[in-house]
Amino acid sequence: MRQISRRTMLTATGMGALSAGLPAAWAKDSGQDSAEQRSAELSPKGSLPLADYQPKSMLHVHETHVSRSKYPVIDFHTHVTDSARVVNGVAIGAARVHNATPEELLPVMDRTNVRAMVNLTGGFGEGLRDSISHLDRSYEGRFYSMTEPSYDLFGRPDYPQLQADAIAQAHRDGARGLKILKTLGLFLREHTTSSPLVKIDDPRFDPMWDACGSLHLPVAIHVSDPVAFFRPTDRFNERYEELSNHPDWSFASREYPSNAEILEARNRVFARHPKTQFVALHVGNFAENLEDVSASLDRFPNMHVDIAARLNELGRQPRAARRFFDRYQDRIVFGTDATPHGDQFPQQVFGEALYQIYFRFLETADEYFDYAPAATPPQGRWRISGIELTGSILNKVYNQNAARLLNITV
Ligand SMILES: [Zn+2]
Repeated sequence: MRQISRRTMLTATGMGALSAGLPAAWAKDSGQDSAEQRSAELSPKGSLPLADYQPKSMLHVHETHVSRSKYPVIDFHTHVTDSARVVNGVAIGAARVHNATPEELLPVMDRTNVRAMVNLTGGFGEGLRDSISHLDRSYEGRFYSMTEPSYDLFGRPDYPQLQADAIAQAHRDGARGLKILKTLGLFLREHTTSSPLVKIDDPRFDPMWDACGSLHLPVAIHVSDPVAFFRPTDRFNERYEELSNHPDWSFASREYPSNAEILEARNRVFARHPKTQFVALHVGNFAENLEDVSASLDRFPNMHVDIAARLNELGRQPRAARRFFDRYQDRIVFGTDATPHGDQFPQQVFGEALYQIYFRFLETADEYFDYAPAATPPQGRWRISGIELTGSILNKVYNQNAARLLNITV
């Protein structure tokens, strides 16, 4: 069989129909004017690559500009610092990179009404102390750093106790919680970077989960990813362009467990550690299926969710999303996944434009707007509508729920 590139295939089978493949009678009936017909004729059938297709909406709808949130915000999900070294998806060593200085962040926070940023990827050991001294201690009440597991030590027989002790030390150093990246379940292997994947509910982590519970440190846990990432990157994939831009985000190959297996392993951890509070990030990592997330929230009183980087999912089902917020108003925290200078991912670049989209989604009834500051919607080609939460729910989601979890006052 002749090899054809994905781009050629899409052009030939999908987008070609959009540019010039309309039946003549339909084009006439739809009231296209002659200028549009002429420009369609300028693109011979099948000649418009998907990446070049940037349709401008002709819809005339109300636009609300929300420059500041109605109540002070705790952004529960940000990455002000990151691991300096990552090998095969696993962070190695304590060293941190600082994505921005607090002096760069504070003016934006002040203008948008963001009271505090939770820096989830604060690291461990010396790296954590570095994050805390640059952020938490320098600007009291504006930054809170979380710690992360030391997967470097996973191969050691005494790892379970070492890791539990490291949590206690991190707590003494000022950490406000534990962050679990999707490393666990998708990248961490028995011998750190090779051999079989380690399961999320591996009992060697039990002392770590329990230490968080007894020290009242919430666990911010990211497992799995959008369910489309577990499907082949083909013309049926609704995240085709995103996966084409980031081929390493695909988990479609057989070496990875399924989304369902990952979420089940996570749920076994929630069940086994009822005294530990878990914040399942990215709407419980299953925003495409709010019924499933609701079923987990109903089963596990120690489960909460954030909404980071999932406005695209919530906002394309605004009525279901609104019901979800009404029902779980005490267990949803505001988060964005904001990463200063993270220009590769428009849906999480720290800045006023990003925050204003979140505020518009939560506070207004505006329809059909972009979920990310980008020319092409980066997480699927659609737009979103707002859910117009009540003042009391907004206040809980913006700050009260997070303040309770972090044990702070706003
Ligand atoms: Zn994140």
